[in-house]
Amino acid sequence: MTGHDSLERTFAAPPPAPGRAFAESWWGRAWLKALEDTALDGRQVKEGRRHARAGAVGAVSVRPGRITALVRDRDGTAYRSDVLVQQLSGTEWDRLLDLVADRAGHIAALLDHDIPPHLAEDALAAGVELLPGIGDLEPECGCEAWDHCPHTAALCHQVARLLDEDPFVLLLMRGRGERELLDDLQARSASHAPEPAAEASPGVPALDVFTARVAPRALPGPPPPVDAPARPLVLTADTAPPPGLDVEALEFLAAAAAAHARRLLAEALAPGHELTPIPAGPTVSQDAVRLAAAGAPARVAAGLAAGTGRDGAALARAVRAWECGGPAALAVLEEEWTPEPAVLARAGAQLAAAWEEGPAPRLRATRNRWTVVGTSAQLRYGPDGRWWPYRREGGHWLPAGPCAHDPATALAELLTEENG
Ligand SMILES: [Zn+2]
Repeated sequence: MTGHDSLERTFAAPPPAPGRAFAESWWGRAWLKALEDTALDGRQVKEGRRHARAGAVGAVSVRPGRITALVRDRDGTAYRSDVLVQQLSGTEWDRLLDLVADRAGHIAALLDHDIPPHLAEDALAAGVELLPGIGDLEPECGCEAWDHCPHTAALCHQVARLLDEDPFVLLLMRGRGERELLDDLQARSASHAPEPAAEASPGVPALDVFTARVAPRALPGPPPPVDAPARPLVLTADTAPPPGLDVEALEFLAAAAAAHARRLLAEALAPGHELTPIPAGPTVSQDAVRLAAAGAPARVAAGLAAGTGRDGAALARAVRAWECGGPAALAVLEEEWTPEPAVLARAGAQLAAAWEEGPAPRLRATRNRWTVVGTSAQLRYGPDGRWWPYRREGGHWLPAGPCAHDPATALAELLTEENG
């Protein structure tokens, strides 16, 4: 095989594609535009599109200057249809390849099966029409129509799909095969290399191609945080989930993680934000409460409770504490510990000073919990060094409000409510 025969490429008929556009790339659309502008009768183009969609076009052969296929008519008759495309002259190829070789990005784009619009513009500026225009797609059909018929129009639509996939199909119609083009481009870009060409091995410097592909410009800044609730997430799949996979819990986890990430991002982008050390990660027990507080569905919440040794009521109390003050508040609810004697002494002095007008409330201290005798009020000294008000409800101590740095403030709030 020599000459043009060796440049023929054949593409098997793709399956019918109901409803899909024939061209998604800009050059594929330009190709179809050339067909629409060239055909004298728009109805033939529409009929051709229907033929192509129905799978009437057989294998497509692409050669320099010509595309060919057998296209079946509605009644089953097959016609040989050709569409002729003008080939580029030797001079035009020279100009086109020179300007492509000048930019590593152009070569990289072609290798990536992309035609950047500015490549086509550069070519046009150099007097080379890469894409066909009006009158450029010349029909020749076995049905002996003198203009575009449904068969040649169907062929053009099928080829638009091929062009989408591989712009080298266009270059082949214009007269050059992919291998030949890439070899030529390699030779040209080597001779275009500005610096010590004598020492450089021939070819495109890998770095040029790489940088042109990877770092076209500086990364933009992050988008502003969106102040909208996270969309509910729904996982879908064609197959049933494997046994043991709790889809509802997974959906909730993903949504909660997204909301958490959004909040962290908003904090990080807020004016005046400074980098702070990342606190130690939560324990499993803390994280279960965090997730329950984030609105876990009932069934998921039941799993979180059972998984951390709580019953539903205990988890509800934990969530209430979490909402008052996160991990510190949760520790105050669930853990009991013994503060330094100096802390207790200082607290006692603060309380006595606050009640100097009358007798201070009597407190019974048990480790870090101080209960006001004769009331359902309690103060708890937290690991964060603050005092947390608690109140007894339904047989359980529950957080009763915001914490305070001194016990007198926290207690005053509690006793005001108690008396009121
Ligand atoms: Zn025809």
